[in-house]
Amino acid sequence: MIRPLSKKVAALEKSQTLALTARAKKMQGQGIDVVSLTAGEPDFPTPQIVKDAAIAAIHDNFTKYTANQGIPDLLKAITFKLKRENNLEFDPAQVLVSCGAKHSVFNALQAVCNRADEVIIPSPYWVSYPEMVKLVDAEPVIVRTFPANDFKITPALLNRMITRRTKALILNSPCNPTGAVYARDELEGLATVIERTGILVIADEIYEKVIFDGLEHFSIGSIPSIADQVITINGVSKAYSMTGWRIGYLAARKEIVEGAEKLQSQVTSNASSVSQKAAYAALANDLSQEIARMVVEFDRRRRYLVREFESIDGLEFVYPRGAFYLFFKVKAYLNKAVDGKTIRTSDDLCEFMLTKHHLAMVPGTGFGAQDWVRISYACSMADLEKAVERLRRGLSELA
Ligand code: PMP
Ligand code: GLU
Repeated sequence: MIRPLSKKVAALEKSQTLALTARAKKMQGQGIDVVSLTAGEPDFPTPQIVKDAAIAAIHDNFTKYTANQGIPDLLKAITFKLKRENNLEFDPAQVLVSCGAKHSVFNALQAVCNRADEVIIPSPYWVSYPEMVKLVDAEPVIVRTFPANDFKITPALLNRMITRRTKALILNSPCNPTGAVYARDELEGLATVIERTGILVIADEIYEKVIFDGLEHFSIGSIPSIADQVITINGVSKAYSMTGWRIGYLAARKEIVEGAEKLQSQVTSNASSVSQKAAYAALANDLSQEIARMVVEFDRRRRYLVREFESIDGLEFVYPRGAFYLFFKVKAYLNKAVDGKTIRTSDDLCEFMLTKHHLAMVPGTGFGAQDWVRISYACSMADLEKAVERLRRGLSELA
């Protein structure tokens, strides 16, 4: 008999965001007019100066292995960026460039977790965190947060969840899927618990630039009392519309970076040489105007969606302050029968909306929130208008 797959992989959930994005694309490929609000990726082109840098890199034959840790120019540009924008002090030896922030989160977990360590993850969470924690043989400890507190973990809640086995907290601000943004004083409150207990923080700041209502992103690693406990993660995917280029990075205490680098040296080696040149161009040039234009457009869509959703009976949501998702509660529309079938869960509801109304959304189950649904507004206004119309039509059948 042929030997089976590993138990680890057999038990692993497939990334629901990626799976649903692929499914919507496949239906579109079959000629079905599906509006897809699944993938969280900016719908703007990568800035020209970045593309030019990549093309130049190819012409210059910059197409070989690079240093495992990343090219020196990029490492330096990352340290300047972290200093300038995040008030974080690192030298280039404290940075590791990887194949996307997703890869950086995994590297960070691999570098610090032992079997049976606990990693605290506030829910709703990004789909990949718990699965990554399981992959490193640690245990995800899911902490439920509530709409009344904008889905944010409080110091008291964090304190209650910490045990002798707790290794780290994963903190994602602005948050995918809720759009929650932690304010400086909230992070300082968490920092007192973090300092006292010695736990680590994996701070995923990939959405730092996509932030609204005049709020400012604050990096928890810039709080001096816990600076050595924080692994800051970021990348170029969201800010520069570079999702396909696959460049992310982590910055942390040297020992952690060396551990993660050792791991990367055995598993993937360096991130793409051409993409590193592109990422360097993104960070070393002033692209603030391009980013501002993108954020204004996201904001316009956000306001449109909020207005529309406020007028749909029974939908609840927390006002998103960052990232480009709207997360909403569909409980009022569950346990209804339609076409001879009962819609029991948000999975059923998303399936119904996709197959009958050709609107693709991601059910909350993958984010640890059963009765909720996530849509991404990183798509055209025309698509959003179509989506709202389809959603209204679908929900009216369930009302
Ligand atoms: N963290 C969060 C919360 C995300 O939503 C994403 C987007 N996929 C990532 C990390 C990873 O981004 P990337 O690997 O494209 O840098
Ligand atoms: N961050 C995006 C999302 O949540 C991309 C998909 C993924 O990497 O899972 O939709």
